[in-house]
Amino acid sequence: MNQTGKLIIFSAPSGAGKTTIVQHLLAKIPDLEFSISATTRKPRGDEKNGKDYYFISKKEFLHRIARKQFVEFEEVYTGTFYGTLRTEIERIWQNGHAVIFDIDVEGGLHLKRKYDGQALAIFVQPPSLEVLIERLTGRGTDSTEKLQERFIKAEKELNYAPEFDIILKNYDLQTACEEAEELVLNFLKS
Ligand code: ADP
Ligand code: 5GP
Repeated sequence: MNQTGKLIIFSAPSGAGKTTIVQHLLAKIPDLEFSISATTRKPRGDEKNGKDYYFISKKEFLHRIARKQFVEFEEVYTGTFYGTLRTEIERIWQNGHAVIFDIDVEGGLHLKRKYDGQALAIFVQPPSLEVLIERLTGRGTDSTEKLQERFIKAEKELNYAPEFDIILKNYDLQTACEEAEELVLNFLKS
């Protein structure tokens, strides 16, 4: 079925499990295609340019802002920009696929407002802030200073859950993945 025009937004504080759940859905549902964001941060681990992110310089990012190439963008962490390129959404829709986003809470709400009626916006909820901190620390990808900034932001972001269409609890990962699959498949059928 052609899914052009549809968007599925996964937002949550860093460490809640959205990347894990989104990757699970991408492996299971061929009608979905991942929105590759542009960012000024450096690649982490085995991340690849043009697969996980478009890794670009701050100069290029600012240039693209000036040319109004972003549907939304944010300085998610001090000095580090992330944004969704208009061309990325168009590319995916041209393939007849629904766009799936892994995006921070403010960006997710921005997209939900902008594409009202076309989007399913899901907030991934961890069991508690303490567990979130454990997961983020356990992932082992961020320096102590970066972790601190993520914890502070996470605490604020947890308050925005009620503004999303659905709150998906990620306590047990398998259960969360199954629930996510059902939600997305129903949305794609609608
Ligand atoms: P996000 O994309 O929201 O920052 P990740 O998907 O990277 O979060 O998950 C953060 C860490 O928590 C990863 O190491 C992941 O394997 C782990 N994780 C995700 N969901 C669960 C869960 N339900 N129980 C335990 N660990 C989890
Ligand atoms: P990370 O550095 O862990 O990959 O991502 C940091 C945060 O930025 C995550 O919450 C992630 O979802 C968010 N993010 C990724 N891409 C975008 C984007 O295009 N726009 C916004 N607003 N946030 C994004």
